[in-house]
Amino acid sequence: MKELIAERLARVKETIAEACARAGRDPAEVTLIAVTKTIPADVIQAAISAGVEHIGENRVQEARDKFPHVPAGVVRHLIGHLQTNKARYIPGLFDWVHSLDRIELAQALGKRAQREGRTIDCLIQVNVSGEETKHGVAPERALELVEQVAEVEGLRVRGLMTMAPLTGDTGLIRWVFASLRSLSQEIEKANIAGVSMEHLSMGMSNDFPIAIEEGATMIRVGSAIFGPRT
Ligand SMILES: *Cc1c(COP(=O)(O)O)cnc(C)c1O
Repeated sequence: MKELIAERLARVKETIAEACARAGRDPAEVTLIAVTKTIPADVIQAAISAGVEHIGENRVQEARDKFPHVPAGVVRHLIGHLQTNKARYIPGLFDWVHSLDRIELAQALGKRAQREGRTIDCLIQVNVSGEETKHGVAPERALELVEQVAEVEGLRVRGLMTMAPLTGDTGLIRWVFASLRSLSQEIEKANIAGVSMEHLSMGMSNDFPIAIEEGATMIRVGSAIFGPRT
């Protein structure tokens, strides 16, 4: 199992390097987040031994169960939808939240972060594709939300996140990623105090090469490292 994960991880890193070469980018600009949802702690440990430095979970409860078994120093990302009433668990569990999509959640999160003397790095999740099943702020409301979140103490906005639709239409996927990048450039131009647009979290196992070509600085990869989730 350990060898298999190390092999898959090496393959993913090669693919990252190839996409960076096509785009004229430095692979050091792309952070690989290994998505560990449904993956047991011993398998996560194998991935960490093979060189994984960032992990992503999409459920708070699962993180609470598994993170006590994850070594310190591994950077922890919440990538899934967060209910406002679960905000209290976040400062003790996660370094980054990729799914900030409403001001009520930002206020709850900021309050908890301040109470624990922490600042949480946040990305604003944008529903670029407009699918009803997807969370995230609508693109046309993203700037307004960033302005509001910028006022919340305990949080630092550092970029945007999106998910592409599950489709074989690579043109559509590319359009979604390119749209997130241009939205981030627009927000950057607004020069909001305390806000940076240095990160774009986009790309999963099936579409991360396209995301890298379109400027992703964080990719969230699960099954390409751990195999299909059962
Ligand atoms: C599960 C998940 C991923 C990773 O999906 P894979 O297809 O397994 O790479 C990435 N981002 C989010 C938000 C997820 O929930």
